[in-house]
Amino acid sequence: MDGIGYLIDSGAEARLNALIGNLEQETGAEIAVVTLSSIGEESPKDFAVRLFNYWQIGKKGKENGILVLHIADQRRVEIEIGYGNEGAIPDIIAKRILETHVIPNFKEGRFSLGLVLGVHSLIRCLKMPNLSLEKKLILPKMEEQFNDNSMEYYLSQSDRLVTLKPVPGIFERHLSSPFQSAKEYATYWYALGSSLLFLFIGSILAVLPIGKFAFYQSYLHIGRWIVWLATIFAVGFISYSEYYESESFWSILQILPFGFLLLKANGWILKRLRENPRSCGRCGNRMIKLNEKEDNAYLDAGEITEEKIKSLDYDIWYCKNCQHTQKEKYSGESPASGCPRCSYKTFREVSRTVISVATESHGGEEIVNSNCAHCKHQSSVRIYTTKLSPPSSSGSGSSSWSSSGSSGSWGGGSSGGGGAGSSY
Ligand SMILES: [Zn+2]
Ligand SMILES: [Zn+2]
Ligand SMILES: [Zn+2]
Repeated sequence: MDGIGYLIDSGAEARLNALIGNLEQETGAEIAVVTLSSIGEESPKDFAVRLFNYWQIGKKGKENGILVLHIADQRRVEIEIGYGNEGAIPDIIAKRILETHVIPNFKEGRFSLGLVLGVHSLIRCLKMPNLSLEKKLILPKMEEQFNDNSMEYYLSQSDRLVTLKPVPGIFERHLSSPFQSAKEYATYWYALGSSLLFLFIGSILAVLPIGKFAFYQSYLHIGRWIVWLATIFAVGFISYSEYYESESFWSILQILPFGFLLLKANGWILKRLRENPRSCGRCGNRMIKLNEKEDNAYLDAGEITEEKIKSLDYDIWYCKNCQHTQKEKYSGESPASGCPRCSYKTFREVSRTVISVATESHGGEEIVNSNCAHCKHQSSVRIYTTKLSPPSSSGSGSSSWSSSGSSGSWGGGSSGGGGAGSSY
């Protein structure tokens, strides 16, 4: 793709197409040549990797694509090599090709010739992998001449310059080819979808003018968990596979706030469901919620202790019309268990005495002392701790990800960032 126009003017485009077409017929390898006047501030290397993976240059499974990218305003040429060709063209050879054939010509303003020679030697490396490095770099004499104008001339022809839209991020990319993305991420989209569905149901309940304790409880026990698990599953895995596909954090940066927002919405729904005014079970009037001091009048001593140690929290809804009250029980932030004597949730561990420490050969012994903050019931329980497991060595797993099926005219290759770049 000649975004600047010199390849077309000099006739080098036809030559490159012939070379590249011939290579693809013979070996299946794909080479893309791209010239651009500018890509803004982005680093040419990052742009090359993203473009490579977005276009999926190379055949899927073989990963045999190569991208040659010229960025005029940054005076930079990048050669991006797919995994499958990194054996034939390791980074060091790509660098040598740039230094031997491309950069010297670019410095003299012979851009077309530089790219033709560069592509020529890339092809030579692919077709004759057994030649020594020095011989790979020796090219047969070129008959044709490619005459370029000055770069200033091309850049001034602004109506001819073609720009590539920035490689789209995850949402644009997946929305622009929904079918492809549906196949690729079906499980995760279902997960995100169910998360959104439950958030939607929760939001409807949350904006109703009248609340019910039952709404809160059902969302707490069902909806909240589905939203949490589905969001973490979907966002986690999409980020993970996006990262392996694009090798950039850009996609993740786009999806993480989305996941964060879903979880925030979850919290908002629960808060609304707890705070929305209740209607009186006796007369149907709108009730008011008593504050933490007032509600103590409607709690017994054990419940007041539970609120005090924050193991539970009670809301008292009061009807001004008929003086009816309704009590709702919420879990608090500090743990306690049910007292064996008074059964309030006020029984907590206060201390632990170690009798013997667990080692690798035998378990340990401890005495756990607990008491009840309400009825002062005390207990000491002897517990045995399991023996320590010896340090074990664990093997390291490895996983591989590959990019999705083909789109556009390119195969399905991906680049792991192999290649080289040079400035001129
Ligand atoms: Zn009432
Ligand atoms: Zn309370
Ligand atoms: Zn007790």
